[in-house]
Amino acid sequence: MKRKQVIGNWKMNGDLAANRRLLDELLPSLAALDGVELAVCPPFPYLAQVAALLEGSGVALGAQNLNVAAKGAFTGEVSAGMLGELGCRYVLVGHSERRSLYGECDETVAEKFAVALRAGLVPVLCVGETLAQRRQGRTEALVSAQLQAVLRRSGIEGLAAGVIAYEPVWAIGNGETASPEQAQAVHRHIRDLLAQHDPARGVATPILYGGSVKADNAAALFAQPDIDGGLIGGASLEAAAFAAICQAA
Ligand code: 13P
Repeated sequence: MKRKQVIGNWKMNGDLAANRRLLDELLPSLAALDGVELAVCPPFPYLAQVAALLEGSGVALGAQNLNVAAKGAFTGEVSAGMLGELGCRYVLVGHSERRSLYGECDETVAEKFAVALRAGLVPVLCVGETLAQRRQGRTEALVSAQLQAVLRRSGIEGLAAGVIAYEPVWAIGNGETASPEQAQAVHRHIRDLLAQHDPARGVATPILYGGSVKADNAAALFAQPDIDGGLIGGASLEAAAFAAICQAA
């Protein structure tokens, strides 16, 4: 069976003391978990601190964004090479907050995905529809378009070398989780689209669900046949909640 994956996206949260407290409490409770791939994605300034705290834990490090350039006059930006040097295995690309607040379009996201792959990172491609798009019946078309942009640039081999996270925008950060059936339907759609390009890769590619995953709804979501784990926001900042979600995987 495919290994489940749980990735914590801390977003713009944490401080040196809180990060240490969180991981001091969290890591011992994850030590006995095998068969689940775990990672946390702190803000850039804490990558080195968190890398050191994670050492020997089996929990991987990820970043929340990258710039497509290798280096140069891009004030405030961070390259894939820098993330690799700090020990990142994963990098989120195309999170809905990046798309909506920082104007990242499908083409930009596809370029970031390709650059991350080339640098040896595992890109976690976030896709998902807004509430308005869902109400208009456009969920599948929208998610397909987000995936097609990456397929055009990186091919199915590239897309399948990453991780896909389905995060309905209407379910992020507000306690409004997609039902397991709603999430499963979109995950199935994503897997079918991948399988049209390559049946084996369609089966093998991890597809995570994100959007108000909590300790009490994680097991039902992760039990769906096409949900391979979760991308966790708010609950990844609480040791007990994140540990319970990882244990449900
Ligand atoms: P919440 O779990 O806080 O809804 O956030 C989900 C998310 O955006 C993870 O990337």
